[in-house]
Amino acid sequence: MSERIGFIGLGIMGRGMAANLLKAGFTLTVWNRTVARTEELVAQGAHAGASPADVAARSDVILICVSDTPDVEAVLLGEQGVLHGARPGALVIDHSTISPQATREFARRLGDVGVSMLDAPVSGGSEGAAKGTLSIMVGGDAAQYERALPILRAMGKTVTHVGGAGAGQTVKLVNQVLVVGNCLAMCEALMFAQAGGVDLQKTYDAISQGAAGSWMFTNRAPQIMQRDWRPGFTIDLQEKDLRLVMEAADQSGAPLPGTALIFQLYRTLQTRGHGAEGNHALIKALENLAGFEIEPAAG
Ligand code: NAP
Repeated sequence: MSERIGFIGLGIMGRGMAANLLKAGFTLTVWNRTVARTEELVAQGAHAGASPADVAARSDVILICVSDTPDVEAVLLGEQGVLHGARPGALVIDHSTISPQATREFARRLGDVGVSMLDAPVSGGSEGAAKGTLSIMVGGDAAQYERALPILRAMGKTVTHVGGAGAGQTVKLVNQVLVVGNCLAMCEALMFAQAGGVDLQKTYDAISQGAAGSWMFTNRAPQIMQRDWRPGFTIDLQEKDLRLVMEAADQSGAPLPGTALIFQLYRTLQTRGHGAEGNHALIKALENLAGFEIEPAAG
C-alpha cells in the first residue's frame, strides 16, 4: 500500500503539486492557512486537515510548500505544527525555498523525535508545478530519498539527490545565482543594443541561438521587447531568494560581488512597487539609471 501523504501550503506551487499527487492515486490530506484555498483539492478527492499537526497525524509523509524560512518554522514547530502530530518513522519533505542553515536545524529538531526530513526545493514555476515537470533538488538521507522517489516523480521530471541535509537548498540557491546573472547580462545587452541604435528584434535573431544565448535571453528578451511584465517568477520571490543567497554566502565565505549588486537592484524595484512583476523587470532598474527605456517592438 502506498504511503499516505499530507500537503501543507496550497499556494501557486503547492496546489499544482498536490493535484498531481491526487492524479497519481495517492491518499492526500491537505491544509492551508487560508482555508478557502483547500476547497478545489477537496473537490478533487483530498481530505481536509484541521491543522499542520492534524495533517501530520493522518500521514506517513508530510510535504510542505510555504513562502519563507519563518513560515516553514511556523508550520513545523509552531503550536499546531507538524512536530506535534507526526509519529516516529514519518518523513517530512520541504519544497519551500528557505535557508540551508535553518533547514539543517529543522532536520535536527525533527530527528530528535524520530521524524526524518528531506529538503526538496523546486524550480520550473507554476507551469512546471501544474504539469508535473518540476526540477527537484533533494538534500538528506539516501534511504529517505529512495522512499520519497515515487512521490517526487509524481510532481517532477528531474529529481536529483544532491547531498545531505540542506544540500537541496544550497543547490537551489546556486540555481538562483545563475538565473540573476543571466538576467542582468540580458538587461545590459538590450540597453546597450538600443543605445547603439540597432534593431532589437534583429539583434535577438542574430545572437539568441549562439554561444551568448541562454534560456533567459530566449524566453524573457521577447517579453522585455513587448514591455510585458507578467511574471514567470516574481521580483518579490527573486529578492527573497537573493537574500537567502547573501546570508548563505556570508556564512560560507563565498565572494559574490555581482550577485550582491543585483540583489540591491531588485530591492530598488520592490521599493518602487514592482514586486509582483516578473524578474525580467530588472531592466527597469537600468532604465532608471540610464534615463531612457526599451522601446516596445512594433506590431
Ligand atoms: P504563494 O503562492 O505565495 O503561496 C505561499 C503559501 O505559503 C500559501 O499557501 C500561504 O498560505 C503559505 N504560507 C505562507 N506563510 C505561511 C505561514 N506563516 N503559515 C502557514 N502558511 C503560510 O507562493 P508559491 O509561489 O507557491 O511559493 C512557495 C515556495 O515555492 C516559496 O518558497 C517559493 O520561493 C518557492 N518557489 C516558487 C516558484 C514560483 O514560480 N512561484 C518557483 C520555484 C520555487 P496562504 O494561502 O494562507 O497565504
